[in-house]
Amino acid sequence: MKNIAILGSTGSIGTQTLSIVDEKSDLNVVALSCGKNISLIEQQAKKYKPEIVCVSDGKDADILKENLKGLDIKVVYGMEGLIDAATVKSADIVVTAIVGMIGIRPTIAAIEAGKDIALANKETLVCAGHIIMPLAKEKNVKILPVDSEHSAIFQSLQGANGADIEKILLTASGGPFRGKTYDELKNVTLEDALKHPNWSMGKKITIDSATMINKGLEVMEAHWLFDVPLSRIQITVHPQSILHSAVEFEDGAIIGQMGTPDMRLPILYALYYPYRQPLNGEKLDLFDIGTLEFEKPDFETFFGLQLAFDAMSLGGNMPTIFNAANEKAVALFLNKKISFLQIPEIIANAMTEVDYINKPSVNDILETEKSTYDYINTII
Ligand code: NDP
Repeated sequence: MKNIAILGSTGSIGTQTLSIVDEKSDLNVVALSCGKNISLIEQQAKKYKPEIVCVSDGKDADILKENLKGLDIKVVYGMEGLIDAATVKSADIVVTAIVGMIGIRPTIAAIEAGKDIALANKETLVCAGHIIMPLAKEKNVKILPVDSEHSAIFQSLQGANGADIEKILLTASGGPFRGKTYDELKNVTLEDALKHPNWSMGKKITIDSATMINKGLEVMEAHWLFDVPLSRIQITVHPQSILHSAVEFEDGAIIGQMGTPDMRLPILYALYYPYRQPLNGEKLDLFDIGTLEFEKPDFETFFGLQLAFDAMSLGGNMPTIFNAANEKAVALFLNKKISFLQIPEIIANAMTEVDYINKPSVNDILETEKSTYDYINTII
């Protein structure tokens, strides 16, 4: 039996993780967490009977406590609660399916407690990769990627026996605005941006796919996960989203992983690594697909992608400024307060204006997040 803690159990990755638990008799849920969706987490708690449930807010925790009365479930809240959920003694693996930088502290706490991490929350590596990866090594903890591209790279590396990676081919669907010019993006709406051609995901990451900033975050994530310099990570636009990413080795062999766009496969692989397990659902039929296309990314139109490379090259707290500015700008766009093209503009401004720190600690990262938000509040 494998005991799993899920941070962000009410979201897209969280609910898909639970759908895998439903299919498997050897997975047991010991911790659940959410932000505000207390009605869904109440249902989940009643169904999976974890030891601990965490919500964001104290008042919501009181309501949940009342509604779960009689069940042996501890209800906690806030950052302290999230850390309790991430470090619950019985957990073997923590699925970090929470969105945003709020995942940094609980992920570090889980690693310190010796838990393996199934990592979906890419923001933690983007901002704190320099802290998380060495810590995981020190604690002998596995960081198992859940992001489909990184899982594909990870799967492609199995059996490589330490061979040098020549290049990572990080695939990108190109999002709903692939092929559009900068001028054509001036008037796109929120509704247009939320129509992802291939994947069904949470709103924030769907907008990040439309700006292609998600791919920029994934480049940073790949750099930390696989210890590969930026110059060896090549974004490859692949509109069909069938090849989920690939690795080119020094002998020229390219090994990749293909499949239908279904996040349950990378989640399943992370939960059972190094074993493969059967999975219900549609399988890939290459005859149906027929053609696979590959294109170079358009760094000029999607200049947020270029900013991601700039942020990573500058290092220090710059990826945090990039990420925090993006989180804030996306929230403003989702609330229809700014236009689509203002998202990268705001990030570029924040990267110039917010103070640079060379080797940021966790506190520096969280302070940078705050000062980036404060800066954006002054300009919007
Ligand atoms: P969702 O928005 O669907 O879910 C986010 C989860 O985090 C929810 O459970 C939400 O709770 C919780 N949450 C949000 N804010 C807070 C907060 N302040 N405190 C505590 N909990 C909070 O996101 P996704 O599932 O799409 O994405 C999760 C992570 O996985 C992201 O980092 C994303 O980049 C990454 N990812 C997602 C993929 C996908 O297919 N969706 C693919 C690859 C990576 P509530 O429901 O109460 O708001």
